Amino acid sequence: MVRGPGRRRVRERPRGGAQRRARARAGGRARARDPRVPPPPRRARPPAGRPLPGPLRARAALLRAAAQRARQPPRGLPAGLPGHLLGRGRLRVADAPLRRLRERVRARGRPDQGPRLSRPGRARLLAQGRQRRAPVRGPNRADPVRRRPQRRRRPAAAPADPDHLRPLPPGGPIRRGGPPADPLLRARRRGDRRRTAAALRARPQRGRAPDPGGLVSRRDRPLRARGLSLAPGALPAGGGVRGLPLRPRRPRRRRARRRRRRALPRGRRLDPLPWRALQGRLRALSHPPRDRAHRLPRAGLLLLIDLGHHDVLILGGGPAGLGAAWELAEAGARALVVEREEDTGGLCRTHARGDYRFDMGGHRFITADRELLDRVVALLGDELLLSERTSEVALLGRRFKYPLEPGDLARKLPPRLAARALASYLRQRLRRDPSPPRSFEEWATRRFGRVLYELFLGPYTEKVWGVAPRELSPEWASQRISVTDLGEVARTLLRRALRREDPAPPRTYARSFLYPRLGMGQLFEAIRERALEGGAEVLCGATPAALVREGDRVSAVELNTPQGPARVRVGAVLSTIPLPALLELVEPELARTLAPSLHFRPVRFLNLGLRAARVLPTTWRYVGEGELRAGRLQEPNKRSPAMAPPGRSSLMIEIPHAAGDRIDRLSDAELLAYMRGELARLDVPLEDAPPLVFSVRAPEAYPVHLRETPAARERALRAVDQLTNLRSYGRQGGFRFIFSDAALRMGIEAGRGWLADSLPPSVELARIASARTLTEVRSVVGES
Ligand SMILES: Cc1cc2nc3c(=O)[nH]c(=O)nc-3n(C[C@H](O)[C@H](O)[C@H](O)COP(=O)(O)OP(=O)(O)OC[C@H]3O[C@@H](n4cnc5c(N)ncnc54)[C@H](O)[C@@H]3O)c2cc1C
Repeated sequence: MVRGPGRRRVRERPRGGAQRRARARAGGRARARDPRVPPPPRRARPPAGRPLPGPLRARAALLRAAAQRARQPPRGLPAGLPGHLLGRGRLRVADAPLRRLRERVRARGRPDQGPRLSRPGRARLLAQGRQRRAPVRGPNRADPVRRRPQRRRRPAAAPADPDHLRPLPPGGPIRRGGPPADPLLRARRRGDRRRTAAALRARPQRGRAPDPGGLVSRRDRPLRARGLSLAPGALPAGGGVRGLPLRPRRPRRRRARRRRRRALPRGRRLDPLPWRALQGRLRALSHPPRDRAHRLPRAGLLLLIDLGHHDVLILGGGPAGLGAAWELAEAGARALVVEREEDTGGLCRTHARGDYRFDMGGHRFITADRELLDRVVALLGDELLLSERTSEVALLGRRFKYPLEPGDLARKLPPRLAARALASYLRQRLRRDPSPPRSFEEWATRRFGRVLYELFLGPYTEKVWGVAPRELSPEWASQRISVTDLGEVARTLLRRALRREDPAPPRTYARSFLYPRLGMGQLFEAIRERALEGGAEVLCGATPAALVREGDRVSAVELNTPQGPARVRVGAVLSTIPLPALLELVEPELARTLAPSLHFRPVRFLNLGLRAARVLPTTWRYVGEGELRAGRLQEPNKRSPAMAPPGRSSLMIEIPHAAGDRIDRLSDAELLAYMRGELARLDVPLEDAPPLVFSVRAPEAYPVHLRETPAARERALRAVDQLTNLRSYGRQGGFRFIFSDAALRMGIEAGRGWLADSLPPSVELARIASARTLTEVRSVVGES
C-alpha cells in the first residue's frame, strides 16, 4: 500500500482472502519456476492443553451441553428409544439425527419458535400441555445451537390497514351537490396536485379540529348526529358531516410520510397518493395477508377502495332509497346511496334524448298521504303540473273507456256478449262467497263476472305477468286494477238516470294527478339534490358483493364499483334492491329455496320520437288482446307538453316479456319492425322513419305475486331482519306491488326509524306500505 498524491490510499494489490490467494498462486508459480523457494509456512495448530480463544470456548461449551442433554432420553419421549439415536453405542451419532434431536429438545423449551415436529410428536407434546401453539415455521436448517431461530416477521397488514386501501380517484362516480366546501376535497376532485398539497398543508391538525358544541366529535358523530339538524358550515372544514375525506388518515402515518418526504432531495418529492398506493400494492403482494379470509370472503382481493364509514348505507337509488337518503340527510346523518345503474331514479327515471323525454311506463304521482304531498309540492313548486288522465282499452278491434263502464260496454260490445257479461256479473254478485279468494282468477271473476274476466282481465293479466291468473295471488289485484266496482258504477248511472245529473268520478279512480313538468324523474332528481345538499353521497354503477358481519350486525359492505372492489363501513344498511338479490348475500341457501316464489317480470319500453303532433286520442291505451305482445301505449306529451319538442309528439310502447325471450333479443330496429304490425292492428298511425328510436329495459318491473309468494316473502324478510341493522323495503326490497308514493313513504319511515334508534322490521315496513297503498287511489289531488 502506498500513499498517492493528496494522501489518498492507492490500492496496489488485492487484499484479504483475495490477497492470500494471489500470494499462494504467486508462491506456487515461484516454486514451479524455482525449487529453492521455500514453501509457505503452514498455520500452526494451537498446542493441546492451551485454552481456546473466547468465542470458540463458548461455542464448545454449548455443544457439550447439547450433547449431554441429547444423551439423556428427553422427557416425554419413549424410554426405549434406539441407542444410536441418543448418541450411545457403537454407531456414532449421525449428524442429521442428532441435530433433529437437539431441535426437538429445544422445541420443548420454546414451542413457539422451535422447528417443525413430526405430526405424532406434536400431538404428543400437545397432549402433555407443553405446547401452547403449533409451530408455524419450517425447520431451521442452520445449526440450532449456533444460530438462534429467527423471529417470525409480523404478518402482512390486515385489510383495515389503509395501505391496502386505495383512495377513490378524484372524479369517480360519487356525486355531490355542487363543489364541496372543503378546499382539499375540491382540489382532489379536480385532480389538482399542487392545490391538494397546499390544502393538506393548510389543514388543521386532526385531533384539534373544533367541535361545534361538542356535538360532532369525530368518534361518536354517528350516534350524536341522530335527530340533529346541523346547519351547513357548522362543521370544521377538515371533515364534518359533509365531504368527509374518502380515506381514513392516521396522524402517525402522516408524520412518518412527512419525514420520508423531507429525506428526499428537493425537486424529487414523491407524490404521496400514488406512492402510498404503490407501497400498499407491493406490501400486499409480498405478504399475502393470512387473516383476510375470514374478514373478506372473496379470494384474490388485494386492494380495496376504502369508502370510509357511513351512518347508513342505502342500496338502490329508486324512490324508496332516495326517500330514506332525503330524510336522513335532512337530519344531518351521513348516508351513502349505492345504485347499480348510471343514474338514480329507479323505475321512476325519465330518459331524455334531445327534446324528447320518456318515463319508464308513464308515471303519475297520486297519494293519500298529506305530509308527503306537502313535501313534494314544496320541493317542486311551479314545476308540478296537475294533469288529467284519460285511458282506454283496445279490445275486439274497438276502444272501451277505462275504467270499464257498463254503459260504454253495453254500447260497444256485441249485444249477445253484453247480455252474457251482465248475466254472469249478476250471478257472481248474488252468490256472495264469504271465503277469501285464493287466486287472482277467483278475485276477478267474483268481482266482474266470468265473461268480463275471460274477455279482458284474464288475457291482459297473463300477458303482463307471464303466469296464468289462477297461479297469481289476489293480494296485488286491489292495488293494481283500477277497474271500477261495477256495482258502484251501476248505482251512479242509476242516480244519473233518476236525477239527470252528470256522475262524479268514482272514488276509486283518480282522474287528476300530479306530474312534474319534465317527467316523473324530475321529482326524484330534486329529491336526490336535496339529499346531496344535506350531505348524502351517491355512488352509481355499483352493486353490493358481500356483507361483512360482526355478530348479528353488518359492520361493513363490500361493493363492486367501476373503479374496482370497495368497502364501506356502516352503521346500518337500508336495502331497496330486489329481495332475492339481498337474500343471496344474507342467506344464500334460503335464497335458492325461495327463488321460484320470488321472481320479477321484465318490461322493455320502446320509445319513439315522432314528427307528428298527435298519435293517440287518450293519454294511454291498454292492449287487451292477449295475442299482441304490447301491453300499453302512451303518449308522453299528454301529461306535460315539455315531454316532446313543440309541435311534435312521441309514443312509448310497454312490452312485458320473459328474460332472454325473443322480445329481449331483438335489436331496437327489429323491435320497431315487429311492433309496426301490432300498431297497424291497433289502428295507430306510425310514420315510416321516426326521428328517434330507442328502448329501455326494466329487468325488475313487476314483482310476480304467485299464490305462494306472500309466505315466501315473509320468510325472506324475517331472515333479513335477523341482522339487527339491516332492513329491506320498497317495491323490489319488500317484493310488493306498490307505487312511488308508497316507496317514498317506506324510505322516510325507515330513515326516521334509524334516527330514532329503532329501525322498524322489514316485515312491518311492508305492512305500513300496503295499508297506505290501499287508500292510494283516493287521491287528495283528485278530490281537491
Ligand atoms: C310500468 C310501470 C308503471 C308505473 N306507474 C306508476 C305510476 O303511475 N305511479 C306511481 O306512483 N308508480 C308507478 N309505478 C311504480 C313505481 O315505479 C315504483 O313503485 C317505484 O319506482 C318503486 O321504487 P323503489 O325504489 O322501491 O324501486 P325501484 O324504483 O325499482 O328502485 C330500485 C333501485 O335499485 C337499483 N338496484 C337494483 N338492483 C341493485 C343492485 N344489485 N345494486 C344496486 N342497486 C340496485 C335499481 O337500479 C333501482 O334504481 C310504475 C311501475 C312500472 C313498472
